[in-house]
Amino acid sequence: MPPISSDALVLRSYKLGETSKVVVLLTRERGKVRAVAKGARGRRSRYQSALEPLSEVRASLYGRQGTELYRLGECELVRSAFRSGARGLDEAMALSYFAELLDAFAQEGEAEDAVYRLALAVVEAVEDGSSVAALARYLEAWLLRLHGLYPSLDRCASCESALPAGDLDYHGSAHGFVCRECGPSSGPGLSESARGYLRRIFGQAPSAVGPAGADESASLEGFHRDLIRRHLERDLRSLRVLRDVAREVR
Ligand SMILES: [Zn+2]
Repeated sequence: MPPISSDALVLRSYKLGETSKVVVLLTRERGKVRAVAKGARGRRSRYQSALEPLSEVRASLYGRQGTELYRLGECELVRSAFRSGARGLDEAMALSYFAELLDAFAQEGEAEDAVYRLALAVVEAVEDGSSVAALARYLEAWLLRLHGLYPSLDRCASCESALPAGDLDYHGSAHGFVCRECGPSSGPGLSESARGYLRRIFGQAPSAVGPAGADESASLEGFHRDLIRRHLERDLRSLRVLRDVAREVR
């Protein structure tokens, strides 16, 4: 059977036996897939840095459609995330967070072209030197939105009336922002400027959005973490690492 050829981003890999790895790929054609990379742990592996997280590759996959584990054939490196990761610790940790976030949201075998293009744009923006904190909020917001999990910024989640300009009040049991009549809300609230920053996120390319102010950044970080935790029913590992490191550095 001829292989499936697909552009893909490497999400992660883990050991298989003495010499091989299983690689988790976000492919453009098939969504998230797992593939065995035979001999990938050998010193003369033909894959080399092509299997680093968030490397963009062109992969040949062998296996029937719907298989749980493909075999990886050729894996040509299109763009290495190494240069972005080499910018510094913040960038390296952000990349591992982004990979984990994409992995957690992606469904196996379900192609999501918008998610794929989002991921590529964010990795490129890291390489171009955009603020990784801003890119984290960007990727979170868009992943949530593309999966139908981001509440409307314009309509009350309870009565659907237009939300007035100004601050936003989140109400847990309504799964969204509510108007004053439908309150009191459970919180958290988002300031008018955080709302404005979200509009930029949802209206611009990741490299164009620019960093948020400290208050907006902190409130969006906490808000997104809650939405993600509710969806995944867990915290992401690299997010905990990021927080621990931030504490130690302070
Ligand atoms: Zn309402």
